Amino acid sequence: MYDVAVIGTGIIGTFIARELSKYQLKILMIDKENDIANGTTMANSAIIHAGYDAKADKNKGKFNAPGNKMYEKLCDELDVPFKKIGSLVIGFDEEDQNTIKELYKNGLENDVEGMEILNKEQVLEMEPNLNDTVTGALYAPSAGIISPFEMAIALAENAMDNGAELILNSEVTDIKKVDNGYMLEIGDRKVEAQYVINCAGVYADHINNMVASSSFEIKPRKGHYFILDKSVGSLVNHVIFQCPSDKGKGILVAPTVHGNILIGPDSEFIDDKENLGTTAERLDFIRTMALKTTTQIPYHTIIRSFTGLRATADIGDFIIEESKEAKGFINVGGIESPGLSAAPAIAEYVVNLLKEISGGMEENENFIATRKKFIRFNELTDEEKAEVIKEDPRYGRVICRCETVTEGEIVDSIHRNAGATTVKGVKKRTRSGMGRCQGGFCSPKVVEILARELGEEMININLDSLDSYILTGKTKENDLYKQ
Ligand SMILES: Cc1cc2nc3c(=O)[nH]c(=O)nc-3n(C[C@H](O)[C@H](O)[C@H](O)COP(=O)(O)OP(=O)(O)OC[C@H]3O[C@@H](n4cnc5c(N)ncnc54)[C@H](O)[C@@H]3O)c2cc1C
Repeated sequence: MYDVAVIGTGIIGTFIARELSKYQLKILMIDKENDIANGTTMANSAIIHAGYDAKADKNKGKFNAPGNKMYEKLCDELDVPFKKIGSLVIGFDEEDQNTIKELYKNGLENDVEGMEILNKEQVLEMEPNLNDTVTGALYAPSAGIISPFEMAIALAENAMDNGAELILNSEVTDIKKVDNGYMLEIGDRKVEAQYVINCAGVYADHINNMVASSSFEIKPRKGHYFILDKSVGSLVNHVIFQCPSDKGKGILVAPTVHGNILIGPDSEFIDDKENLGTTAERLDFIRTMALKTTTQIPYHTIIRSFTGLRATADIGDFIIEESKEAKGFINVGGIESPGLSAAPAIAEYVVNLLKEISGGMEENENFIATRKKFIRFNELTDEEKAEVIKEDPRYGRVICRCETVTEGEIVDSIHRNAGATTVKGVKKRTRSGMGRCQGGFCSPKVVEILARELGEEMININLDSLDSYILTGKTKENDLYKQ
């Protein structure tokens, strides 16, 4: 029997699992997908918000600013890229200026550090490409940008380095109460755990309903995005939000941690929790809305569009509590934005809650906070590159030309704990395929490397989920060539 089963390996589940691995516990991480962070954690704005937005009496307000303050150290420990570039909420009229003042006041209540209200000249000095119709802004220097799925992968890897187990392709289909805990049905497999932590994102309500009556409902709220090529990465230097108003929360324009520009998202309630399709109408809406921030957006440099689904709970806040009907079963549901920013503080809270529920947990004296550094070839100096190639010649073979990702990095990404098994898995960990050509050149080579390293036939290597095959057979072995 496991001590704790964590359902869902998004940013919430992996943060909690890593925090739990500081204690002497038998921990199991479970996900229905074939990789860590294939849900909402894969597709969002990637902002570590400062925390001035939500009210202090909401969980969203309570956990955001403390979470923000924890990121720098965590990213350092786990070798995850993070940039504290600060954010601006820009306004264009009197009404916006009043909103900015309210956000500032709320930020002070939430203990957000270093905020300033800027006038037009100050804003344009910081961001010369913004529209000169801007009248002022709220500046929050503590806001940052990150790669959320790289963070989740690092957390899962570190939790496993510290003894946690992981099972993927494992959908929890039912949960039954048993003596001293729960039995989780995962296809035709059964797993027992004394405590269960439900971090199932848009499906958290389904998982809750397996052990208790329906106390909350999650509606997916879709957001569309564009990504621009790195050649225009200096369009803005801070995360630029438009002032929220009764017309909506506005569209952001922000640099990504790897040097692209991200534009989006919109907001649309949908019924289907699997619907990640983009629509031309919504993308056009974003395109137009973003021009209010700056007319300088070079839309011909778009390299990708995508959507993410916010797990919006009907109670309008994060649900972080032990189920009233199921002892030892903790719901961490409705984790929409700022869930990424709040995640480390949520994890700490949940583990303290489990300590209370269980009557105490013994520390893992062998806990290691760091993980093996990831060699990012394109960030090295020429001397460092030469050194790395001398050690391992596979770092001298560039596989992804757009992002300069080497074979050495790809092999490393496959063989770590929670390693890559798919082309998208390699992409998430190394950035091969994230560049201008979007994998046009490197994908076949990545398939070859995955097959070789995993001891699989190339035909068994998927792009992403289990049904996303790439190859179906050898062309010259089909009937046409046998004649
Ligand atoms: C458009 C958009 C923009 C956002 N921008 C920001 C932002 O800038 N900053 C910020 O702080 N937050 C942001 N967020 C919110 C943030 O992305 C989420 O709060 C966070 O990713 C939620 O993580 P999670 O672990 O709860 O969910 P997920 O990442 O969805 O993980 C849930 C996991 O549970 C698994 N699962 C589900 N059902 C089962 C089952 N039955 N059995 C096994 N596994 C199961 C799924 O496969 C999935 O991997 C944004 C969200 C969206 C959609």
